[in-house]
Amino acid sequence: MAGLSQPGEWVDGFLFVGNQLALDFLNTRPILNREARELFSNTAALERWLVASGIIVSPRQRAVARSWRDSREAQTFLKELIGFRERLRGAVLRIESGRTLDEDFLAEVNRLLRHYPQRVKVVKQGSKVVSQLFFDLRNPEDLWAPISAAAARLLSEVDPSRVRKCESQSCVVHFFDTSKKGGRRWCSMNICGNRLKVAAYQKRRSKENGGGGGS
Ligand SMILES: [Zn+2]
Repeated sequence: MAGLSQPGEWVDGFLFVGNQLALDFLNTRPILNREARELFSNTAALERWLVASGIIVSPRQRAVARSWRDSREAQTFLKELIGFRERLRGAVLRIESGRTLDEDFLAEVNRLLRHYPQRVKVVKQGSKVVSQLFFDLRNPEDLWAPISAAAARLLSEVDPSRVRKCESQSCVVHFFDTSKKGGRRWCSMNICGNRLKVAAYQKRRSKENGGGGGS
């Protein structure tokens, strides 16, 4: 099935199937070939994800991020970011099982929002003027601005009944279902969908050929 991968599913080695930045962030530790894989393996990997996710856009921001590569500061930030990602995972699992969010996590998000606010600017877009969010990037911690804003959006603006984990048992990818009917079941047709369909087909067939195994 190689070669059928949808454009935009994988960007520079990262998965973008979440339909929400905070979920794409969460999906940076998928299980691939039955093994949990930390895609934020070092600060250079984080830098690539920031570009792939559209958090870092301008050449100036790229240069700033590149200047910290391998610095102790960036490494400390990455450690904290991974910790936050895992607490976000706990929050998403609660959302998916219909439980209320835990106060400590909300307090943590609020603390980040307060310390690292996003700013608004107005820019020309053709003949119109539109407002855009932005953040000043000087130090690695400034990245909390877009990350905490994304987490806040996920917690407050997204229909919880449409936040789901991939149906495949061995997959830990989460997504926001934006399909019309709300029937999305897996992270991606290419990664889990086809595999599950083939497995279901084989199960049906073995039942049919199994000589009255069922019913
Ligand atoms: Zn999956």
